Amino acid sequence: MKPMKLEQIAVMAEGLILAGEADLPINSVHFDTRQLEAGALFVAIQGARDGHDFLLQAAEKGARAAIVSEQTKLPADLPADFGLILVNDTLRAYQKLAKRYRQQFTMPMIAITGSIGKTTTKDIVSHVLESKLALYKTYKNLNNHLGVPYSLTQLEDRHEAAVLELGMNHAGEIDLLASLVQPQISVITYIGESHLEFFGSREKIALAKAELLPHTDPAGFVLLNRDNEYLRKITHLYPGRVLTYSVEGPADVWAEEIRAVEDGMRFDVCFPGGERFSAYLPLFGKHNVQNALPAVAIGRHFGMSNEEIARALAAVQLSAMRFERTDSKTGAVYINDAYNASPSSMEAAISTFASILPERAKVLVLGDMFELGPDSLEMHAQVGRFAGKLRDRFELLVAIGDHARTLCDAYDGEKRYFATKAEAISTLSQLCTPDRAFLFKASRGMELWTVMEEMEKN
Ligand code: ATP
Ligand code: MG
Repeated sequence: MKPMKLEQIAVMAEGLILAGEADLPINSVHFDTRQLEAGALFVAIQGARDGHDFLLQAAEKGARAAIVSEQTKLPADLPADFGLILVNDTLRAYQKLAKRYRQQFTMPMIAITGSIGKTTTKDIVSHVLESKLALYKTYKNLNNHLGVPYSLTQLEDRHEAAVLELGMNHAGEIDLLASLVQPQISVITYIGESHLEFFGSREKIALAKAELLPHTDPAGFVLLNRDNEYLRKITHLYPGRVLTYSVEGPADVWAEEIRAVEDGMRFDVCFPGGERFSAYLPLFGKHNVQNALPAVAIGRHFGMSNEEIARALAAVQLSAMRFERTDSKTGAVYINDAYNASPSSMEAAISTFASILPERAKVLVLGDMFELGPDSLEMHAQVGRFAGKLRDRFELLVAIGDHARTLCDAYDGEKRYFATKAEAISTLSQLCTPDRAFLFKASRGMELWTVMEEMEKN
């Protein structure tokens, strides 16, 4: 953050100064005491825990001031010079502060949302742009009502652009987050089944993502995945230039000749008019080729040549647990994609797994997908049938969890079902031989990666 004075922060957060000098210097803003640095301002958010209970701890870690809303919860023994800004709602105050702080900058903001593929797309876009620009990018997955304000308050004058991930669980959330970010470029990666439980239909999920469009500078542009039928329905909501990308056929940028090679994907990147270049991406799956296409369009927008973009794509590295390969000490290969799951991402992972490592016997370790709503069992069955069509590529399916039983029932091939992870471990450990590969995939709440960790112990 650019250093600010307590009074400036009070103005931006619309609060009044209860204590502290108006010109008290502040170097950063945090809502999590674990990340505090000396000279910071701490925002006491009232969430699962009440930030007001951490005020003393914040002061001990070097915080100089705080934004608070509960006067009765202020500890008596805060340092005498500790600054306090009082507001009615600390979360709203944090968001207002972030919005006004962001308005001091003219650098282009790139906002990425979608049901799946946000972090992957963010990581690839950032990686490509980083080779050319001083960039700020969302740290890990900080994409919500707290994460986005956090990201915005990290911006500094040296940054030439920012790539921010925007997540949501409910309608109205992207509207709010996008109003803070005010992007010049927006990307919507995918409309899928995540959070279907809350929304009721994919059209309504599409509308919730589309809240990003009216906040995008009409002089900028929007990138939409043309392969997703729900995204095709919302293009009219942006008055400016809409560009599309595709792995199925022609668009404003598309991929052809997509093939899995030993350690990733090769494909040709094509543009209208016949221009094309060949690319290599060290990630598996057609879905990751899809996730790489926005980086091509955005890289070109920032003046990068096709060669520069191809060089950057070839060196991409992803955040953990997204189809991450680990070589077990037993010689078996683990593909850890247990970071999260929905039917589309399950199917993408299963077909990618089917297409790689041809010399190995392959074991699918699939667990429950959460939050799918009333059709959850049917969606689990659908994934089971999908995997069954590829059964000659797999030695065994190991299904774990309540709803995964339906997935298992629908799988037409060799299979084992376990109600819990603990029950599955001894069977899986016995299969850990140098000629095998395992795919682990389930919703994050299943914590399926712990199975992998247990297998390593045996
Ligand atoms: P979150 O909502 O948790 O932040 P996200 O939108 O950031 O998720 P990623 O973390 O990029 O999504 O990807 C999650 C998983 O979804 C990946 O591990 C992969 O299996 C799958 N996935 C990613 N992109 C696609 C895609 N374009 N099509 C299908 N599946 C995908
Ligand atoms: Mg994410």
